[in-house]
Amino acid sequence: MGSLAGNFVELFSSVQGEGPHVGASTLFVRLGVCDLRCRWCDSPHTWRAAETCRIQVSRGSSEFHEIANPLAVAAIVTAAETLELARHRFVSLTGGEPLLQPEVARALAEALRGRGPRIHLETHGLAHEALPHVVDRIDVVAMDWKLASDVRREGESFKDPSAGFHDEHEAFLRVARRAPEVFVKIVITASSGDDEVLEAARRIARVDPQILLVLQPVTPRGAVTERPGAARLLALAAAAEAILPGVRVIPQTHPIYGAP
Ligand code: SF4
Repeated sequence: MGSLAGNFVELFSSVQGEGPHVGASTLFVRLGVCDLRCRWCDSPHTWRAAETCRIQVSRGSSEFHEIANPLAVAAIVTAAETLELARHRFVSLTGGEPLLQPEVARALAEALRGRGPRIHLETHGLAHEALPHVVDRIDVVAMDWKLASDVRREGESFKDPSAGFHDEHEAFLRVARRAPEVFVKIVITASSGDDEVLEAARRIARVDPQILLVLQPVTPRGAVTERPGAARLLALAAAAEAILPGVRVIPQTHPIYGAP
């Protein structure tokens, strides 16, 4: 790990709010910078490199202290120990997009793995050139499959949904499945294209039909003011389940009770 330093946004203890490990105690390490612009993003403060990183003072506390970036990986590990690292089920490397700092993500995973928690990588699922440097240190890859109807790259306009991000996601998934566990999450909005979702399901089945697909109805915030209708969501889940055996509808839970 040496003196390697990265850009970090925050470090805090909570429980996982989404996906199949929902409710499990999780220490979140949020890295800075993202090259996408999702309509529903709940972390726009991570899009740019952060000047300071906020670190929870102790597990369960609402107090944080701020430390200037860049921050050494060793300092993050020390702070994680202060937050009772070993008593968590998972450490989540999240963002932003952690794979935009692949050396930092790898060093962190290396330093934290073997101390108790499983290493959970939350990623936008497009950095397929960076993933091979990191994937052998990861226990769970939680990969988004972005829909061109709702997501654009920084500085670009929305793509033709018929083209989408499918090729890049499929290439990413072929590497991600080297990890002991991988699942795919698609956020569904009122404007998401059903054809895009079903094309994603077909691509996932082509890589490995045992991979779990989570359909996550969007949590209204910011520019997103409505949820997808329940009838449409259930019909979409049924159509996806005709392609892939493992499909679940799981909304975000932490906004329900105000957890970070
Ligand atoms: S990939 Fe994540 S951090 Fe980046 S814009 Fe989308 S939701 Fe926000």
